[in-house]
Amino acid sequence: MHQFLPYAWFQGRCVPFEDAKVSVATHALHYGTGAFGGMRAIPDPIKPGGMLLFRADRHARRLSQSAHLLLADLSEETVMEALTAMLHANKPTTPIYLRPFVYTSDLGIAPRLHNIETDFLIYGLELGDYLSPDGVSCRISSWTRQEDRSLPLRGKISGAYITSSLAKSEAVASGFDEALLMNTRGKVSEASGMNLFIVRDGQLITPGVDQDILEGITRASVIELARGMGIDVIERPVDKTELFIADEVFLTGTAAKISPIRQLESTVLSQHRPLMEALRSKLVAITEGRDEQYAHWITRIDLGN
Ligand code: PMP
Repeated sequence: MHQFLPYAWFQGRCVPFEDAKVSVATHALHYGTGAFGGMRAIPDPIKPGGMLLFRADRHARRLSQSAHLLLADLSEETVMEALTAMLHANKPTTPIYLRPFVYTSDLGIAPRLHNIETDFLIYGLELGDYLSPDGVSCRISSWTRQEDRSLPLRGKISGAYITSSLAKSEAVASGFDEALLMNTRGKVSEASGMNLFIVRDGQLITPGVDQDILEGITRASVIELARGMGIDVIERPVDKTELFIADEVFLTGTAAKISPIRQLESTVLSQHRPLMEALRSKLVAITEGRDEQYAHWITRIDLGN
């Protein structure tokens, strides 16, 4: 059972988590017409009394864009104000995961996005490692990642996560930790909730934004960090075979952070991952507020506690 933060943001204010409840007739519950975000916040390890949020502006922007794709209005400022209020109400003292969610809150039927009320909520929970930092086993999913022409894949649209859920459960049922999904063109897309990188001959390679991926914020950060470290980064279609012969294969995401793939199907992959390790320690230093150069990626919310 998750440890939830005591207060949620719900219907425009902070309320006790137990009181943040929706009706059985809530439109989004039936049609998947919502969009969410996911961000981590940690207590400031250097100057206690505040929480550090990684790339909060990017997360707020992606959520605002996701809302726009669902024909709803949600400004980045509204997201940031609610996040701030929610953190002040909870005054967390441990690392947490924040889940903002915009959804069609009207009661009743008929799939649509016009003439419908929407609401915006946030709740939080304690979250340790989502995937083992030592490496995960993956299978190639029998499910295919959706296409942008049938669903707005630039948004984190709730309904889209049926494919992720099927892929994840299929992977676990067959003895693996995670699933890798191919796109409809037969190229590698991403995992159930993470982007994918490989290293070949010193180059960092990742499927481009035209490969039906979610435009991950960790992915964009890793690309920028790698370039800053003088590493060649190439965004291009990735074939399945490349995964088996790559020097390093790893996943990135807010929940997963940077997690290596140690086994793919029945093949054990290389356990020597110098590039991934370098990127991971850089990212950890940044998220903990220990890296001056990337200090602008961190938002500090002062809680005065
Ligand atoms: N792909 C999918 C399908 C996801 O749900 C996530 C998690 N948000 C990611 C990739 C990674 O994105 P981010 O780095 O922004 O968390």
